[in-house]
Amino acid sequence: MGSSPFDAYITADSEITDLLSREWHRQTSTLQLIASENFTSPAVMAATGSILTNKYAEGYPGRRYYGGNQIVDEIEDLARRRLTALFGADHANVQPHSGANANVAVYQALLEPGDTVLAMRLDQGGHLTHGSPASMTSKIWRFVSYGVTPRSDDPSIIGEIIDVDNLRALAHAERPKLIVAGATSYSRQISPEIFREIADEVGALLMFDAAHPAGLIAGGSHPNPVPYADAVTFTTHKTLRGPRGGAILCREEHAKKIDSAVFPGQQGGPLEHSIAGKAVAFKEASSPAFGDYTDRVVANARVFAAALGQQGFRIVSGGTDNHQVIVDLREFDAELTGKVAQEVLDVAGITTNRNQIPDDPRSPFITSGLRLGTPAQTTAGMGASEFQTIAELMSRALRGRADESALASVRDEVAEICGAFNPYATFTTH
Ligand SMILES: *Cc1c(COP(=O)(O)O)cnc(C)c1O
Repeated sequence: MGSSPFDAYITADSEITDLLSREWHRQTSTLQLIASENFTSPAVMAATGSILTNKYAEGYPGRRYYGGNQIVDEIEDLARRRLTALFGADHANVQPHSGANANVAVYQALLEPGDTVLAMRLDQGGHLTHGSPASMTSKIWRFVSYGVTPRSDDPSIIGEIIDVDNLRALAHAERPKLIVAGATSYSRQISPEIFREIADEVGALLMFDAAHPAGLIAGGSHPNPVPYADAVTFTTHKTLRGPRGGAILCREEHAKKIDSAVFPGQQGGPLEHSIAGKAVAFKEASSPAFGDYTDRVVANARVFAAALGQQGFRIVSGGTDNHQVIVDLREFDAELTGKVAQEVLDVAGITTNRNQIPDDPRSPFITSGLRLGTPAQTTAGMGASEFQTIAELMSRALRGRADESALASVRDEVAEICGAFNPYATFTTH
């Protein structure tokens, strides 16, 4: 498969070295359009792959259960300081191993078992941890769900956006202890003000799950929920472009409870190597260059949505305000499912994920939609003209899906574009 710059990190294990090399090749020779993925920087990877993986540090800076944490304390403090500064928050917890852990920790901190929570339904764009029957969250707390408005065929009305009237009515009827704002598959801006207003009307707490837009918020391309929410949770690896992991921001009054819910409530020893990687990412995200990047992510998504529309795909909610484009495949081809589209595009070198669209008649495993995102390929340097080309290539691959040579020709063109926009072209090992 040839060597990649990452080979330098592994010398003794040829099987893993070979697999890493092949994965490096896959990531840099095919298009990464999964909305929750990105290309993190070599600096983030170096911190994440560092000697800190050796250290046990249960507890928090200055209050650890193990010795030898003098330097780790400085690292975790630096990460917390950078993060509170980045979002203008009172308090940060950088220990959650993932976005799911961050959400469950906030529930544990702010709720008693059986309390009512109002959150977005999975098939309308919400996350599993927003009370899906498949998630343990639904067994501990009583979730009531809101969704989106019906689809509109009148171009002057935007359909498939959060149904605020229904949300307000449900809040008044159910009197939830907590309202959760935020989604995993939703291409429109979510207004933190409206959620705060409704939470205040019914005396509820507000959690904003910013797993997807965290980077757009840090870059100034999206409104900041921190002034409005009791707690903001997010992942560090999506638009924020850091290592895999989660984090929580909260008001001072909730800080102690949230820290205790993360450790010892949810987790054991923190991953200090990931926390160092998070600190690097928070610094990167505070630079003006990152704001330029997130503006381009959004601009590219708008171009991509329009170009896909021209190819005959119906765009859910009629367009995008963020990094996502959600495609309803039924108008392009009534027979084409999300599952088949994802598989065909994989053969053509275009990596996507199938996704249910609002009121999808097909199951979550089959689906009628695809969720696409611009963060990763924008990091690699792609712009409007590349995203227009990608829309054409997707259309060609899906129309020609029975024809192996059509798929091979798309794959060749994809490899050519990817070769010109390698995110790690300047990567060097020291
Ligand atoms: C991705 C996501 C999560 C979970 O993040 P993981 O790190 O995969 O656990 C939680 N909430 C939302 C809205 C997400 O999109």
